Amino acid sequence: MGKIAVYPGSFDPVTLGHLDLIQRASLLFDNVIVAVTVNPSKQCAFSLEERVAMVKKAAPRSNRIRVESFSGLLVDYVREKKACAIIRGLRVVSDFEFEFQMALMNRHLAKTVETVFLMPDERYTYLSSKLLKEIARLGGNTSSFLPKAIQKQVLLKLQ
Ligand code: ADP
Repeated sequence: MGKIAVYPGSFDPVTLGHLDLIQRASLLFDNVIVAVTVNPSKQCAFSLEERVAMVKKAAPRSNRIRVESFSGLLVDYVREKKACAIIRGLRVVSDFEFEFQMALMNRHLAKTVETVFLMPDERYTYLSSKLLKEIARLGGNTSSFLPKAIQKQVLLKLQ
């Protein structure tokens, strides 16, 4: 069996930064499972179903990339999928502290699961779903950050 990685996140909504990471991860692993999370501590603008549907629409068509939703403990999900790695993105130094804490806690919970950090193209290093939503709500141009396939749907919801 090939190597499987899980890329978890809120994807509220999926951005070109996320797609950049999915692309990079798919060059390193045989299968990438994009796991859209039910995150009780985050107030999402889009429902879980909408977020999953948007990632499916925007992600490259490949039988090596799968999109699912999950709730519960990440390491349990990773083990259930027989994955060996968790993919996370590092954009700026401010991402580091939280990601470092999560990675070490997940290692504590599951010794054999490695967290792999990937850096996006420079164009996306200052991009977050949160900032994108703010710009869209205020009528700014988000076309360089939003996947084409979901642009209409996102703007319709936020504007
Ligand atoms: P979460 O609530 O889990 O942080 P996000 O959808 O905000 O969910 O992010 C999921 C992962 O994708 C995180 O590791 C985050 O650092 C990464 N990520 C988000 N936006 C970008 C981007 N523009 N470039 C690279 N990685 C990103």
